[in-house]
Amino acid sequence: MSTHKLLLLLFFAYFYFPSYGQNNLFTRQDSLRGSITPEREWWDLTYYHLSVKINPADSSFSGTNKIGYRVNKSKQLMQIDLQPPMKITRVVQEQNELEYGREGNAWFIELKAPQRQNDIQYLDVEFSGKPQVSKKPPWQGGVSWGRDKNGKPLIVTANQGDGASLWWPCKDHPYDEPDSMLISITVPEPLMNVSNGRLRNLEHHNDETNTSHWFVSNPINNYGVNINVGDYVHFSNVYEGEKGDLDCDYWVLPYNLKKAKKQFKQAHLMLEAFEHWFGPYPFYEDGYKLVEVSYPGMEHQSSVTYGNGYKNGYGGRDVSRTGWGDKFDFILVHESGHEWFANSITNWDVADMWIHESFIAYSESLFVDYFWGKEAGATYCRGTRLNIKNDRAIIGQYDVNSQGSGDMYAKGANMLHTIRQIVNDDEKWRQMLRGLNQEFYHQTVRSEQVENYICQKSGLDLKPVFDQYLRDTRIPTFEYALLGDEMRYRWANCIGGFQMKVAAYINGEIHYLTPGTTWQNLKKEQPIKTVEMDKDFYTAVFKILHLDTNK
Ligand SMILES: [Zn+2]
Repeated sequence: MSTHKLLLLLFFAYFYFPSYGQNNLFTRQDSLRGSITPEREWWDLTYYHLSVKINPADSSFSGTNKIGYRVNKSKQLMQIDLQPPMKITRVVQEQNELEYGREGNAWFIELKAPQRQNDIQYLDVEFSGKPQVSKKPPWQGGVSWGRDKNGKPLIVTANQGDGASLWWPCKDHPYDEPDSMLISITVPEPLMNVSNGRLRNLEHHNDETNTSHWFVSNPINNYGVNINVGDYVHFSNVYEGEKGDLDCDYWVLPYNLKKAKKQFKQAHLMLEAFEHWFGPYPFYEDGYKLVEVSYPGMEHQSSVTYGNGYKNGYGGRDVSRTGWGDKFDFILVHESGHEWFANSITNWDVADMWIHESFIAYSESLFVDYFWGKEAGATYCRGTRLNIKNDRAIIGQYDVNSQGSGDMYAKGANMLHTIRQIVNDDEKWRQMLRGLNQEFYHQTVRSEQVENYICQKSGLDLKPVFDQYLRDTRIPTFEYALLGDEMRYRWANCIGGFQMKVAAYINGEIHYLTPGTTWQNLKKEQPIKTVEMDKDFYTAVFKILHLDTNK
């Protein structure tokens, strides 16, 4: 396509392609990034072979991404994402060099070869540039060109949120994952790159560089793809898990080897607890890895990155302030937990990221529960309530690459803990967590699918609970008034039609009540002296001293 034809197309697309934001906070770039555009929808990723040459001398990356895809619908225009200052320099399909144009971070490639339905096609996208440098990884995405304590280069990528397209060209939307991926990274000797999956081979070249080829044999989310280049040393062991022998590999800086061998014993404890609660580790074929980096950590699939200083807690701090958070390495446990929720079960749209963070914030309590008992786990979970802000809804806006509130961690965990109380059958609850990992194994899912699964398996209508906690910021308040031997009660400060079971100790005796938004009555034989709510339900409580029953 000629340049002016392409500009014309982009011009029309601008007016005809809706911007999904309900207000002006979102731009067309957000829609291009966050929605299934017509230029994405027609093809389904099957494979990536990402080759990158890293040049520390000028902080640049150059390489090729071979993109394999199945044609769902015959179409000739394809969207690939790559953020400036990175540039696509050449695109080739079947020996034909192709024309392309860009609109911000989205590149539109005009394919020449006929794209027939069900065909598997390949496209080579060449790229180069100096990728954005991250000043605060992993919260600000990009590449960190650091040095270890020995002065050796330590070059790492982290890009959750900002997107994998910060440094490599890809379909930068979570709904579509390749079935497998080969990552080939060339670095100067004697450095070594560690990426996802298994090391297939390490080639040494005459120009004093080496190329490591890492193969991931399972679907992988693009934000999980990572490069870690350093003066690494390696050790390994085997975990005898539910699906057999799991290879565990650890890549750390040489001066931390001794500390790592001690601290990373927790990896087997993590696997034991999470296989119990969630089912088998989801990537036996690709192994499990911990890779030391210069930032706190990230759930990079089958190469979880670690920078927690070989200390328990999170940077030495207990996020629950209960003492239980000092008992384990927060980063090791939390980021590895994401292998189940984030890497195996991945959100279709980042607006539903609670699927990653709520389950995994809750997994910290489940880890404590497994090793120190149910009350310890519950105490940890309740302790994290101090971190809840109730500022925005947990679910963000769809189709515009918008994450919801950070409450997806502590509040989401406490919602799940509340649902566990409602289910009131720990074995059933565990089977539901394991069931989610079977039902949605290696899939991208929407919030509704997870909600429906939990409703269906529990046999309970938990829709109002999900709507209240995920889509609203109010914490339901149990209002009650005592009138002698009678208690009036209802939910207030909640969504219309809210209904949720709750446990209350009335005169010391447990009662399961299911309040709605209208007043209900409970009559006892004796005057009601004390009402105490079960503290494992994340709710508020308000005692009305003088009830106007006409209201
Ligand atoms: Zn997380």
